[in-house]
Amino acid sequence: MILILSAQVNQNTPEYQQLLSHLATLKGIQTRVHVEPGSVTSLTEIYLIGDTKSLDMETMQSLPCVERVVRVSEEYRILGRHKDDQRPTHFDYNGVRFGQDTLNVFAGLCAVDNREHVEIMMKAVRDNGQVCTRMGAYKPRTSPYAFQGHGKNCLNYVFELAGKYDIKVIAMEITHESHLNEIKEALHQTGNPTGVMLQIGTRNTQNFELLKIVGRQTEMPILLKRGFGITLDESLNAAEYLASEGNRNVVFGLRGMKTNMGDPHRNFVDFSHVPVVKRLTRMPVCIDPSHSVGSRQSSPDGILDMMQVTAQGIIAGANMVLVDFHPAPPKALVDGPQAMLLKELPYFLEDVQIAREAYLKRVALRQRQL
Ligand code: PEP
Ligand code: MN
Repeated sequence: MILILSAQVNQNTPEYQQLLSHLATLKGIQTRVHVEPGSVTSLTEIYLIGDTKSLDMETMQSLPCVERVVRVSEEYRILGRHKDDQRPTHFDYNGVRFGQDTLNVFAGLCAVDNREHVEIMMKAVRDNGQVCTRMGAYKPRTSPYAFQGHGKNCLNYVFELAGKYDIKVIAMEITHESHLNEIKEALHQTGNPTGVMLQIGTRNTQNFELLKIVGRQTEMPILLKRGFGITLDESLNAAEYLASEGNRNVVFGLRGMKTNMGDPHRNFVDFSHVPVVKRLTRMPVCIDPSHSVGSRQSSPDGILDMMQVTAQGIIAGANMVLVDFHPAPPKALVDGPQAMLLKELPYFLEDVQIAREAYLKRVALRQRQL
């Protein structure tokens, strides 16, 4: 059960203390207070954990400071959607809104290889009216002999160039706690010219200790990729780990499932789960056509499979697209064969727009039926 307190609540008032003392008398129930800072007021929520079935909604509603009571289902307590739940389905970060009704494209390098390519990429992103990109510095690789990413050595120039090209948010995977500190340090050293969305890759979806560490910081939002060999429920629970530690600014990423049933695609494209995740949770949903499809194959109409699946995800309501581009794919150190060419970026974005408009028309059509 969640008690949502009135907006102007002050934790130093006798009413608030009275509420906490009352909650402390409830047998078998623990409380966890979460304060969500807002631009004007902050929102205080008290999570009641334990045997809450016996609690009466009206009684709880009448307690001091309580504005609303939400009875949560067992699963995804914080990030889930519950009956009569009006909590927001969006968050703002560095001037960019991420929500279940917005769409942001993160076109960029799978792996940072050199400064020149980062600059060319970011300039193209900016010139095409975008404020987000992807830049991999820490790469989890199948082979220990493959390029592992430049790590902290590239962070300063990546962040400086992001500032130069007005990039507001960079999606960047981390695989270890130390990477979090390196990113914070580099942002600080360069004067915070940009923002970072920390990416947890599919190989770490159930690295619970990493999830807890990343969830405990609330400066940067998180993109959690679905685990490629586990159920959707297991991946959604992984997202809940982040929120239960304090960070609920989480985007959920679909990137395909590992099975040969999806051949010839690199992974079995799972974008039909876009509306499912939006129904079950309040998280914005990201699709990654590059890692799902993994090649530049196209259909007889000339459209790349990666663009077909992007359109499929967007027409179903996807909120974010994470996609590999590269100024010179044959020279890319990671995932060159699935990178799109810079000259394809305007075309890609226009195609995304067509699918988005179709989605919005479908929503309007549904509204007219109600
Ligand atoms: C990536 O986005 O670069 C990546 C490695 O993705 P995934 O974790 O989905 O394989
Ligand atoms: Mn990749």
